[in-house]
Amino acid sequence: MMITNFCFKKYFLVLFVFLFSLGSAQKKFTIVLDAGHGDHDVGATRSYDFGTPMEKDITLGIVLKLGKMLEENKAFRVIYTRKTDTYPSLTERTNLANRSKADLFVSVHVNSSPSKSATARGTETFVQGPNQNRENLEVAKKENDVIYLDAKDREVFATYDPTSPESLIALKIQQSKYLERSLFIGSFVEENFEKGGRFSRGVKQANLHILRMSAMPSVLIETGFVNNYEDAYFLNSEDGQRKTAAQIYEAIIRYSRKANIGATENPKKEEKKEVPLKNDFRILLMSTPIKYNYGDPAFKGLNYILPVKENGLYKYYYSVSNLASVRDANLRTAKDAGFRNAVSVGFVPNQSLSSGYYTLEVFVGKDKLSSDSYILKNLKDVKREKANGMFYYTYGTAKTLEEAVKLQKGLEEKGMKNSVIQKVAK
Ligand SMILES: [Zn+2]
Repeated sequence: MMITNFCFKKYFLVLFVFLFSLGSAQKKFTIVLDAGHGDHDVGATRSYDFGTPMEKDITLGIVLKLGKMLEENKAFRVIYTRKTDTYPSLTERTNLANRSKADLFVSVHVNSSPSKSATARGTETFVQGPNQNRENLEVAKKENDVIYLDAKDREVFATYDPTSPESLIALKIQQSKYLERSLFIGSFVEENFEKGGRFSRGVKQANLHILRMSAMPSVLIETGFVNNYEDAYFLNSEDGQRKTAAQIYEAIIRYSRKANIGATENPKKEEKKEVPLKNDFRILLMSTPIKYNYGDPAFKGLNYILPVKENGLYKYYYSVSNLASVRDANLRTAKDAGFRNAVSVGFVPNQSLSSGYYTLEVFVGKDKLSSDSYILKNLKDVKREKANGMFYYTYGTAKTLEEAVKLQKGLEEKGMKNSVIQKVAK
């Protein structure tokens, strides 16, 4: 839901207005293409018997070919950070992207490794790293006037950070959507490279300025290693650049369809509306005795985390959806983020536990809470248990997971964050 509904209202409105004022015009999918480096900044380079390929020329070659393919498709509007051998600064590049309210930012680069005899080879695509949400958020705050927040987001997300003003929560949601979407496009690009016979090093997260400062889904594609003979030969050739551009193009098409933004080339081919499943699906990221608070780096930048404690283990679930396509996409996102063993788990909505109940773990510590602690002063009937030298405090009971989430939300409204829903067997 949270993925397919993104910006639906906004685009629907725009679409509506356009249809009635301009006839058949449709909202275009705006994409900013950034050819890395340029002019005095040649980027990675190396001399060979076939010539001296320079990163700045390869990136421009690929971007111009890719841009041409996109421009031939009426669904896209293409903006270039450069079309010639010039050097726009990184800030100029991201400012252009942010000003144009683009739907996607694609920066093309060529890799190199320090070793002379390069064994490193292949492609890799970078998305925003997990630790840069804050800076990204500041950019988003300035650049985004329309914030979309659907009911489900509000429910899931508000559980975790109720003290923030709603606008900030909404922005955070948008940020995590950018990351999720960036992971989608990144995985499509790498999949296509691999299908085309390249060696794919996968999708990675990194703290790169160009990704950090853009207020939209963004990827930085390393198209190969200049110090690897085969990669360099391929990327230096017209044919290699055209193939690379075509593989990125196909990934963008797939992404734009998936994201439900922009028009499809052939409206007849539009997919049928998906029928919701009976169950809700959450992605189980990990099961561990360690308690992580919301925003912990252990979540690798993923949001919408619901921890549920069961038999002494914290199970961290990511996202929730009753659509098979979104469930599968969420699972892929989790795997791309680094949770290789993630699995999707079905939950019957509003199911009462046949035995036992849910409660909230409100505090865990080596020392007992004092009677005038915030928790004990503000909550009645808090239960205390001691196990393995630790004190565990729990509060409240609920029959269903949904009720427990509601209970948790109530606590957070009182400023008690990071409580964990606990399943107690009887
Ligand atoms: Zn570069």
